[in-house]
Amino acid sequence: MKTINLLGSTGSIGVQTLDVARAHGYKIEALAAFSDVDGIEKQIREFKPRYAALVDENAAKDLKTRVADMDVTVLSGMEGVCFCGAEAKGEITLNSVVGMAGLKPTLDAVNAGKTIALANKETLVAGGHLVTEAAKRNNVSILPVDSEHSAIFQCLLGAPSNKALKRIILTASGGPFFGKTKEELQNVTLQDALKHPSWSMGQKITIDSATMFNKGLELIEAVWLFDVSPDMIDIVVHRESIVHSLIEYDDNSVIAQLGHPDMRLPIQFAITYPERFSSPEKQLDLWEIGNLTFYKPDYENFPCMNICRDAITKGGLYPAAVNCANEEANLLFRQGKISFLQIPELISLASEYTLKKQDFTLQDVFDTDSLMREKVRELAKV
Ligand code: NDP
Ligand code: MG
Repeated sequence: MKTINLLGSTGSIGVQTLDVARAHGYKIEALAAFSDVDGIEKQIREFKPRYAALVDENAAKDLKTRVADMDVTVLSGMEGVCFCGAEAKGEITLNSVVGMAGLKPTLDAVNAGKTIALANKETLVAGGHLVTEAAKRNNVSILPVDSEHSAIFQCLLGAPSNKALKRIILTASGGPFFGKTKEELQNVTLQDALKHPSWSMGQKITIDSATMFNKGLELIEAVWLFDVSPDMIDIVVHRESIVHSLIEYDDNSVIAQLGHPDMRLPIQFAITYPERFSSPEKQLDLWEIGNLTFYKPDYENFPCMNICRDAITKGGLYPAAVNCANEEANLLFRQGKISFLQIPELISLASEYTLKKQDFTLQDVFDTDSLMREKVRELAKV
């Protein structure tokens, strides 16, 4: 049985990962989250990890007192989270931290030789070449958890080589605002934006799905995971979220992966790979579904996809910049401080301040993060 270090354990993906671990009896060596003491205490009592960490110092102190009766070492701060991913005994580190805060824990786990199951897409967007070079150096696999990338990964299994690959087609649900015009998007509220038609997810990614920035992040993620150029990636809106993505070979043969929208399947495959186990996911009855529909994305009213495409095409620190600007704009929208349409506007304006540097270090990414957050707040006048 494989053993797992789980970062971001109290979130949407974290909880579903523990569903998978419970179903198959996987041992959890470490659990880490930000500040959810109640959530992580319950998880510690059920899964009995050797280590647990909370970033928030006070929450970690509280947790330490609460689980004093258990054989678990409680750590705090980002060092604690990084320790859980890199030093705890799990063979696989599943990173489902939200945001680019996940970058350092991913890098540390890669450098410690852990197999990485990656849900935290901002990691590859902000530090793509740092992560993929470290993975090559350490001979470490990065297995995708994101459903689209898991689909592409599954489609590519058995391919003679990536050379025959002509195109990757990412599917997008289109989010809650599919078909809306700019005028209609003007006054949409947080509550409207949180009503995702097919997936139940954490708040940040749900807003990213409404702006379609999520699909832009996934485009960049695919560039790094599958070593393809951005122009080899297309996006198609598929409202039913049954086809999770497709690949096209040189002979125009197209291969797709299908399943119900249930993250437990890609999570499980990243853990069991190269094997497949039975899954709690419902069997797919195509006659029940009946129709699958496909549309061209609306690049005009949802500019975030092309903001991301341009950023990865320019390279250097641009992907990190647009990601970090989006993290701040997404947060300001959730706090009710800016409107929905200001999100792409602020990302575009802030990213003009990106440092032009093709080779960069981890510190450059952190500096870009601070700069972008500051610029977004300044431009939004908050
Ligand atoms: P959630 O907001 O539901 O959960 C985030 C988790 O990260 C929580 O456990 C939170 O802890 C923890 N966390 C936040 N900041 C830190 C930090 N600095 N260090 C350690 N832990 C931290 O997010 P999701 O589960 O929805 O998403 C997680 C990641 O997976 C994102 O990158 C998202 O894009 C990606 N993803 C999610 C999908 C989904 O279906 N949800 C699908 C595909 C990808 P606390 O609870 O204490 O705040
Ligand atoms: Mg996805």
